[in-house]
Amino acid sequence: MGVCQERIEDQMLEGLTPPQNKAVYCKVNQLEESLEQSDSEIFITAINNPQTWSANSLSTALRQKGVSLADTTIAKHRNKTCACFRA
Ligand SMILES: [Zn+2]
Repeated sequence: MGVCQERIEDQMLEGLTPPQNKAVYCKVNQLEESLEQSDSEIFITAINNPQTWSANSLSTALRQKGVSLADTTIAKHRNKTCACFRA
């Protein structure tokens, strides 16, 4: 025939991944993702420094910047009891 058939990849499903579900992460993670990189770094530094930032003072400081994040959400994330740390 002379017709060159395109080779069908036998691994067409290679790299198949489940859809990313944003809802599985808590608001701390969502906020981190939505911030500019420099803001995100400041935010994560604060999250990771409970000695400097109590959940309550961080929540209040964020609210003054127009960001709503409950202190209970911060506390859960720090205690790894939020959605981010669920298997
Ligand atoms: Zn979290």
